[in-house]
Amino acid sequence: MKRLLIPVFIITILSACQIHNKKQYSAIEIHEEALTIDSHTDTPLRFTRSNFMFANRHDPEKDRSRVDIPRMKEGGLDGIFLAAFTSQGERTEDAYTKVFNYASRILDSIHSNVNRYEEQIGLATSPDDLIRLEKQDKKALFIGVENGYPLGENLSNIKYFYDRGARYITLCHTRNNQICDSSTDTTEHNGLSVFGESVVREMNKTGMMIDVSHISDSSFYDVIRLSKAPVIASHSCARAICDHPRNLNDHMLKALAENGGVIQLCILSSYVKKPEPNPIRDSLQQTVRDKFRGFRDLNDEEMKQARKEWYAIDSIAPRKLATVSDAIDHIDHIVEVIGIDHIGIGTDFDGGGELEDCRDVSDLPNITKELVKRGYTKEEINKIWGENFMRVMREVEAESLKQLEVSSRH
Ligand SMILES: [Zn+2]
Repeated sequence: MKRLLIPVFIITILSACQIHNKKQYSAIEIHEEALTIDSHTDTPLRFTRSNFMFANRHDPEKDRSRVDIPRMKEGGLDGIFLAAFTSQGERTEDAYTKVFNYASRILDSIHSNVNRYEEQIGLATSPDDLIRLEKQDKKALFIGVENGYPLGENLSNIKYFYDRGARYITLCHTRNNQICDSSTDTTEHNGLSVFGESVVREMNKTGMMIDVSHISDSSFYDVIRLSKAPVIASHSCARAICDHPRNLNDHMLKALAENGGVIQLCILSSYVKKPEPNPIRDSLQQTVRDKFRGFRDLNDEEMKQARKEWYAIDSIAPRKLATVSDAIDHIDHIVEVIGIDHIGIGTDFDGGGELEDCRDVSDLPNITKELVKRGYTKEEINKIWGENFMRVMREVEAESLKQLEVSSRH
């Protein structure tokens, strides 16, 4: 009897230890321990305005700013993609030169911010950079190029942006361009143009991630067919939950998963949830849109005035924003359709991203809290917050190295 009792005693102690080791993490602990990446923000739009200080804390209620270093710290965000965004204009040699120079100036502004606050932030171009910077207690700044317009018709510009630190290019924006059709414009190339096809191949070769957010469905399928590397949708949602052409339908989600890619959930309210009818707001917005020629080709002064009048509408006819819970409905759906390995977060802060209970980067832990509430595990949340995206980054890099190796052998 006694001999039997000893093993039982040991087993009891061992299992007690195991229970003790399986620590229950709070949402805040999970959030703090995760390596977190936001794959899309338009914050550099503010860098090019002279009075914006990235190291100062801003009040979103006052100046609508969503991202700065102090609030990144509060929100536990480790890595952020800053978009060098250009809006679509004419497709002439002259316009291409102008937009290339403008995109170049945005990159200058990002680099000068990195230099100015080098004790708090650093430029990141790979997952290893993010890991290194996190250990140094610094925020990692990645660069993306939103809209392939500044490439003009010159493939070597892909390498130019890559060498300046950019790691993805969103092929187009809200209008068609020389590369492909947009999801919010008419059919022109019926997908990728011939030049667009060479852009995809060149991006694979260079190790530049292909961002399929904003592009039309046929452009998306053309990219999936052509790309040898996984692609990203840097800021998009699920069309089955919110029917908007900017979002991906289930068939596209499956194709994306098969490609090994990742969709990064956007928190722009009208992509998350169909806005309730608000005719007064609609008509006021239309008036401002007409007055400023659809915001196309405006000079700085006109843009400033347009922005002021557009934002003033919020106090006359406020809109009801979607919530974090509405946004997580998209994650639930995407996970149900393609599993946990192909989803991440790309807020679109400073480009329209905002939810009722996630106004700025300091509110990001609310997303983790909701995920925990819905039963997502620490491991799953780590994947959503960065591991999935880092896997794609590494695979894109590996494909580029493979192609370089093959071409050097020939
Ligand atoms: Zn966008």
